[in-house]
Amino acid sequence: MNPVGKPGKTGSLMPVEAALARLLEMAEGSRIVESECLPLAQVQGRVLAQDLVSTLDLPPWPNSAMDGYALNLADWTGEPMPVSQKIFAGQAPEPLKPGTCARIFTGAPVPAGADCVEMQENVEIHADERVRFIETMVAGQNIRPQGQETTVGELVLAAGTRLGPIEQGLAASLGCAELEVVRRVRVAVLSTGNELVEPGTTLGPGQIYNSNRVLLCSWLQRLGCEVVDAGILPDDLYITRERLGELQNVDLILSTGGVSVGEADFLGIALREEGELTLWKLAIKPGKPLTVGHFRGVPVIGLPGNPASTLVTFALLTRPYLLRRQGVQDVEPLKFSVPAGFVWPQAGNRREFLRGRLEQGLGIIYRNQSSGVLRSAAWAEGLVEVQEGRVLAKGDQVPFIPLSELLD
Ligand code: AMP
Ligand code: MG
Repeated sequence: MNPVGKPGKTGSLMPVEAALARLLEMAEGSRIVESECLPLAQVQGRVLAQDLVSTLDLPPWPNSAMDGYALNLADWTGEPMPVSQKIFAGQAPEPLKPGTCARIFTGAPVPAGADCVEMQENVEIHADERVRFIETMVAGQNIRPQGQETTVGELVLAAGTRLGPIEQGLAASLGCAELEVVRRVRVAVLSTGNELVEPGTTLGPGQIYNSNRVLLCSWLQRLGCEVVDAGILPDDLYITRERLGELQNVDLILSTGGVSVGEADFLGIALREEGELTLWKLAIKPGKPLTVGHFRGVPVIGLPGNPASTLVTFALLTRPYLLRRQGVQDVEPLKFSVPAGFVWPQAGNRREFLRGRLEQGLGIIYRNQSSGVLRSAAWAEGLVEVQEGRVLAKGDQVPFIPLSELLD
């Protein structure tokens, strides 16, 4: 049994599961219904808009799984058999002559009348080129039956499936040259903060480089979104209103920073005036405050500005939201349990997502878990999840979510 600490003060903090459930419900209510037909080579990262139903049996005919000899087992007496034909992949065979066998190669159609393929290693070839089978054989061996993978009319990929190299290969095997995919989600990325400047310029007093912008823009591209890079938004109400108003043709405005109820929360003011705003206090660390609402009907998600908070709240909440808007059902990342290679003596009241990696089978964590430290995530291979109220001794099992699950 793992020691469990005091429940901790959760107060009005919203558990991660509840936040995710609400976001997914909102995504469900604004599902993108438009789709487009794309050449198969261009569907990588996109979401299938229609069920893919097979119009073929796959394989279309029984074929050989080996280089060897096809025969009818009933003809086999133990005596050498003459070879009556040679069948390469891509050829259409003659029916097998009774009392004979056929030389056959991997992927070639098994001739009518044959019910068994023996691999070439198990035969003796006589001087007169007849073939003697030296091992016991059974009907059906080394034959890949017609329709073993798929039969006509079978659902192969359901609408809502995310498409990657494997799905593309599968669609190709069924002869699909194009697929109907959900249109891209258009996401505007806004970085708020007077302190922000873009890399490539010199830092003035009090300024820092904007790291969230490129982080989110390239992550969104990997997720198959259409990115509208809306740049830096200064902490100014008038400009905030004006810039939000220019983003009427997107599916989501994704901002970072300015979500703490600080004096510079102009995004919040603009949303309250011309839309709706709820400030969620999440039981999650890093990344407590999250803004969810809309501006003149356009959905807005405001992530906390600290880079590690941006990363965690995007990975765990925004990514599944965006996938669900495209109709993806399975939005939860794979996680598995690893023994902790560290101790966690102090139970917290928020779920910790520690930047960690696996070393010799143990989950270890970066030395500095500050929400301002992005290097922790660059070092990490995944997020180590420590539940609210939990303390850990070395060797206790903790969930580990590989970053590779979250980045695509
Ligand atoms: P805020 O949520 O605006 O109070 O920002 C929280 C912290 O994150 C502050 O230290 C900000 O300077 C920092 N921050 C906000 N936005 C960014 C950004 N785009 N890139 C890097 N740091 C940021
Ligand atoms: Mg700010």
